[in-house]
Amino acid sequence: MKYCSNCGHTLDIRIPEGDNRPRSCCPQCGTIHYVNPKIVVGTIPVYQGQVLLCKRAIEPRYGYWTLPAGFMELAETTHEGALRETWEEAGAKAELGPLFTMLDVKRADQVHLFFRAHLPTPDYSAGEESLDVQLFDEADIPWQDLAFKTVETTLKLFFKDRSQGQYSLHTGDVFEPVSWPAESFKPQ
Ligand code: ZN
Repeated sequence: MKYCSNCGHTLDIRIPEGDNRPRSCCPQCGTIHYVNPKIVVGTIPVYQGQVLLCKRAIEPRYGYWTLPAGFMELAETTHEGALRETWEEAGAKAELGPLFTMLDVKRADQVHLFFRAHLPTPDYSAGEESLDVQLFDEADIPWQDLAFKTVETTLKLFFKDRSQGQYSLHTGDVFEPVSWPAESFKPQ
């Protein structure tokens, strides 16, 4: 960020008083422009055991497959965002289930949240940001052509949990998530 979005003045990089790291500060109007990680929300939409994936029509990762997901918008909840992305990218009206993964992507300054979701009917279509949308059996998942590590990790955990008949919540680093089975954590 070079110019103040509040007054247009050139910004300085300095550590504000009482803070402990450099920020973009406006010497004219005094605004401190904090930049924080972004939240990505999405779903694992399932219809009769098959998972709905979208082939991306936009960069990054044009032509690769992804679960429907995108940046959370202002004035919406994580649930609303996940359902909105599923509608916009896959043309699917999903019923939202519980949170399944919350994965940190430190190098991109992002946190990705995926919710399990149920598709009541096999109705879907490619939205503006998708080239194609398809239901996949586990055996047909295009593992080599997935767009993002969070999608790969989420799908692997999903099929592992499903085969064991119990879904856990998985959180932490995208490369080394920690699994939290129901009832695994007891207050001392
Ligand atoms: Zn300013």
